[in-house]
Amino acid sequence: MGSPARIRPADAIVVGAGPNGLAAAVTLARAGLTVQVIEGAPTPGGGCRTQELTLPGFRHDVCSAVHPLAAASPFFQRIDLAALGATLRTPKVAFAHPLDGGRAGYVAGSVEETAGGLGADGPSYRRLFGPLVRDLPLTLPELLAPMMRGVPGHPLAMARFGLDGVLPVSLLARRFRTEEARGLLAGAAAHTMLPLTAPGTAGFGLTFVMIAHAVGWPVVEGGSERLIDALVAELTSLGGRVETGRWVSSLDGLPPARAVLLDVTPRQLAAIAGGSIAGWQGKALGRFRYGPGVCKVDWALSGPVPWEAPPCREAGTVHVCGTLAEVARSEADVNQGRHPGRPYCLVAQPGVVDPTRAPAGRHTLWGYCHVPAGSAVDMSGRIEAQIERFAPGFRDLILARSVKTAADMERYNPNYVGGDINSGAGTLLQTLFRPTPRWNPYRTPLPGVYLCGASTAPGGGVHGMCGEGAARAALADLGVKAPW
Ligand SMILES: Cc1cc2nc3c(=O)[nH]c(=O)nc-3n(C[C@H](O)[C@H](O)[C@H](O)COP(=O)(O)OP(=O)(O)OC[C@H]3O[C@@H](n4cnc5c(N)ncnc54)[C@H](O)[C@@H]3O)c2cc1C
Repeated sequence: MGSPARIRPADAIVVGAGPNGLAAAVTLARAGLTVQVIEGAPTPGGGCRTQELTLPGFRHDVCSAVHPLAAASPFFQRIDLAALGATLRTPKVAFAHPLDGGRAGYVAGSVEETAGGLGADGPSYRRLFGPLVRDLPLTLPELLAPMMRGVPGHPLAMARFGLDGVLPVSLLARRFRTEEARGLLAGAAAHTMLPLTAPGTAGFGLTFVMIAHAVGWPVVEGGSERLIDALVAELTSLGGRVETGRWVSSLDGLPPARAVLLDVTPRQLAAIAGGSIAGWQGKALGRFRYGPGVCKVDWALSGPVPWEAPPCREAGTVHVCGTLAEVARSEADVNQGRHPGRPYCLVAQPGVVDPTRAPAGRHTLWGYCHVPAGSAVDMSGRIEAQIERFAPGFRDLILARSVKTAADMERYNPNYVGGDINSGAGTLLQTLFRPTPRWNPYRTPLPGVYLCGASTAPGGGVHGMCGEGAARAALADLGVKAPW
């Protein structure tokens, strides 16, 4: 990390060293530009950091923990992560969905293997996911890019996905009869934080399941921060620099550069631009919608979680809530401004494949539930009650816990407005036009200034594709050939 005094002028400045800021920086540096990254926090990483949040020797992912999007991302596939010290470890069960009575739906391995575990719904599962997973090499690059760029590269495959994808997941789930299959779909779709009756929620659920079959839902050995270490190493090897501990509050305070890429959301863009984005363009940015927040809990445990249903014990991720109707109630509550009594919880247990996270025999556990935007309510009691419901004895294993409310989340990272970890609601409209309806979503009304964070297409998650897309736009405007 350099100090401000030693900084030389760069071709491009990237503000924010989150996964997307660093993906933008690496793409620009690979194209031959000199790049300087300016990060406000003391360390790079944004939503991809690992810390001892509870007890010594227990390494917790502060934000992102599970990396199907990184594993599937064309950007990350261009980086030799293993050579840079980041190894993805893939649990046998990508994700499981426990139900009362020791039952669970789960996604593991191929469509065939998963269908085999779904009893009466096996044939419906095969019918739905067989063609979608076969088409994934064609559709995934389209799904991880801006949607409204004209005719998609593979219109038939995209149409096949889109016909089901635009549905509310509550409707798509009617193709299944068992609570296991219906729960699986609901749990995957509820990552959007939208009511399950919202159009397009099926698309998110389908995508997460398709990716589970293609690459699994891996965690990073040693913690998510290793992905960031890898990107910083790659950038540094290309001559780029990362400066930390410097918050940018105005474009005027930045060193001169040919392009400025901001890993921030529209709200901060407006503030940093200091009123220079006026008229309808300013109004369009002001209309950008943020989603609900999350309350996050990390636990140090004296042993693995004693799930009743065996597949949950091998799963990297467990969606904890119960039936589709219960997930629907939880998400409806949150979207109507209420804190659910029995919340839908996302739980990750990296210890199933990564023993390095905790001292021998001990485990870390990561979890969060959705809450109304800006909430300061500690939901740890309700989350623990939900886990205990499907894993009796869980509470007895807790050695320590660390809680971040939605309000804490925004204090931790200003991009999580109101605690919205995706830096913008995932409504169908805002997924199609993210952040505003522009032909190129990364350009801003200010010449030479680009948005490169998760508020742009394709949205939240650690995949780097927002950063790569913004870098491509900047390179095109500078007349420099993109490296890939
Ligand atoms: C609790 C939680 C769990 C999550 N789980 C997952 C998961 O399991 N898998 C997954 O794929 N994704 C997950 N995510 C989402 C993922 O972390 C984000 O979508 C991703 O980090 C977005 O990357 P980004 O680079 O766009 O922004 P960020 O990661 O938010 O990085 C932005 C960076 O810019 C810096 N910055 C902002 N403003 C300024 C400024 N004015 N000056 C200087 N620096 C600034 C910030 O400090 C930050 O470091 C999770 C997020 C959270 C919070």
